[in-house]
Amino acid sequence: MKYQPIQNFINGKFVNASTSKTLDVISPIDGNQLSTVPMSSSKDLDDAVQAAKAAFPSWSKTPIKERVQVFFRYKTLLEKHLKELAELCSEENGKTYGESVAEIEKCIELTEFATSLPQLTTGEILEVSKGVECRTEHVALGVVASIVPFNFPSMVPNWTLPNAIALGNCMIMKPSEKVPLSCGRLAELLKEAGLPDGVFNVVHGDVEIVNAICDHPSIEAVSFVGSTKVAKIVYQRATQNLKRCLALGGAKNHLMVLPDAIPGMTAQNVAASMSGCAGQRCMAASAMVGVGNIDHIIDKICDEARKIVPGENLGAVINKESQERIEQYISEAEKNGAKILVDGRNTKVPGKENGTYVGPTVIDYVTPEMSVAKEEIFGPVISIMRTNTVEEALAIENANPYGNAASVFTQNGAMARYIIDRASAGMIGVNVGVPVPREPFSFGGWNESKFGVGDITGKSSIEFWTKLKKSTTKWNPEAGVNWMS
Ligand code: NAD
Repeated sequence: MKYQPIQNFINGKFVNASTSKTLDVISPIDGNQLSTVPMSSSKDLDDAVQAAKAAFPSWSKTPIKERVQVFFRYKTLLEKHLKELAELCSEENGKTYGESVAEIEKCIELTEFATSLPQLTTGEILEVSKGVECRTEHVALGVVASIVPFNFPSMVPNWTLPNAIALGNCMIMKPSEKVPLSCGRLAELLKEAGLPDGVFNVVHGDVEIVNAICDHPSIEAVSFVGSTKVAKIVYQRATQNLKRCLALGGAKNHLMVLPDAIPGMTAQNVAASMSGCAGQRCMAASAMVGVGNIDHIIDKICDEARKIVPGENLGAVINKESQERIEQYISEAEKNGAKILVDGRNTKVPGKENGTYVGPTVIDYVTPEMSVAKEEIFGPVISIMRTNTVEEALAIENANPYGNAASVFTQNGAMARYIIDRASAGMIGVNVGVPVPREPFSFGGWNESKFGVGDITGKSSIEFWTKLKKSTTKWNPEAGVNWMS
């Protein structure tokens, strides 16, 4: 085992969980055991909540310009430890080193945004009648929780922690039990940056801890990122307990490729979108709808896909179960009449025989009722459907229950605008395969890809992590009584 058994991080210290139950942490790259992760109990969660509650009065009263100083230092530490954090990310998640570097760079950008929050949260003030002022202030909620998935061990935690904490909240983070190492390292860096004990806590576990978070009376808000199935459970349970909740779910992102699309650029973008992070991105292209004759572009997509080599520029998928699930999807599509143009099944990387790899896979002649057309595969697979008109392509995109992202590839600006207006997704790309908005623009899907109001990052997150205080003040007693103030 390369690393010590993982511990929770509560009140500024690493501590053992109160249970002895653990899961093994396995590297998808080679199947080697990295560590063990504790399956904490609701008592451990309560210890973390009590530490966060105790830290809240002082942290929330610290002026925001002082609070963000921690994040200036944290940003510098992320930069200093970029290589080490990226290596850890690759080890536990299986993505390539280059993808992990990009992930940590994104953490730096997210932190940079948090340092700008004093400029964005000034509140408002107006003299509403003579001598009478109305004023709004953003006030921290208290103890908040963030539950995160396996596919971005550092980035998704950094979607929530810098903003929530800079805005004055104290946080409990529940990492994915599949990739629990990175969060512990982030906790250490936050402490080194000067974050007071108790403001950020990490509690490891699975369903039991998630349920305990949703039920704990002292947790004010819960953010969740993961599959739609669990997002629904968490959203329902947390809001049933009268908490604020924002739950981001899974995705099935459609790329619409028009015959006038630039072939080389389109093919590169499609191949990169479907295979980046081994297809384990909620923004990955999963379905492609070709309008009219796009055979010349499909040929180029296959050429690009063949340049993607597992173990070199393609990482592993998270575990054996995932590998088998993805391969089953491909086999089922083949059985139902689809054509496998590039086949990533039965991939073995020499020297890493116990790694869990699936090669890039291009499936053509998929029909809308096939599972590969409808369901989230979460692997390096693109399912190509063919239509004659843009209306038919939009009908396919609109019918899918998810709504994270959609993209169109064309050189026709009016057609691109037409599709932006009609695609049923929160994030749309034009000639962009992975249309992730960058800070200060916010991230969030529609439909079954997100439950709750607002987005998880950017300016929109300010509303989620704070409540508004409205005060009306009168300093001239002679003003008399105005029924409006
Ligand atoms: P997951 O839903 O299995 O797990 C997410 C978190 O929920 C983990 O911390 C896990 O421990 C916990 N969990 C798992 N099962 C649970 C249950 N039954 N009850 C309560 N908690 C439970 O997701 P995952 O496999 O870790 O991540 C992949 C999924 O996340 C994909 O569907 C992907 O699209 C989605 N995702 C979405 C976004 C987005 O922005 N919309 C971003 C990243 C990932």
